[in-house]
Amino acid sequence: MGNVFSDATESLYLSNGGTAVFVNVLMLAVSDLVDDEWDYRFASLLSLQDQNMMGRGAVGFDLRDIAWGTTDSERVRSKEFVLRATALALSGHRWSELDYEPPFARDYLRQFQAMVESFEPTGEVRRAGDFPGADERAVASCALHRILSALPYWEGCFLCTEPP
Ligand SMILES: [Zn+2]
Repeated sequence: MGNVFSDATESLYLSNGGTAVFVNVLMLAVSDLVDDEWDYRFASLLSLQDQNMMGRGAVGFDLRDIAWGTTDSERVRSKEFVLRATALALSGHRWSELDYEPPFARDYLRQFQAMVESFEPTGEVRRAGDFPGADERAVASCALHRILSALPYWEGCFLCTEPP
């Protein structure tokens, strides 16, 4: 079992463990970069990739299901935010706070980066509703770990909810 992160032409297939690593290192970067409302919605999408909550092998998303924005400038800005977060994650940002070495994280992030770079967001959202709305954005930051979480839906951030 695993999870798929995809767009129209490519798929990044990750094992359940690989998914957790990929999402977690990206979340560490996103948590420190969020600024606009859209950023918090993207953070919420990431928090929904928590398999401890959603089920093993039951997560993953498609770039075509993300509401990138209604205008060109919004879409450019959203894509730029995701690429900026991915680049920050690639630098190993806050990896020392994980209790494991994320061995293949850079491979996953590079594949995701290439996929986002080549993706052309349009105003069309394939499956509206998959991308968290403004009222579902992740605004809560775990006080212990300073990581955005889906509070009050989850009880904490991914470090809080990790199985022992
Ligand atoms: Zn936490």
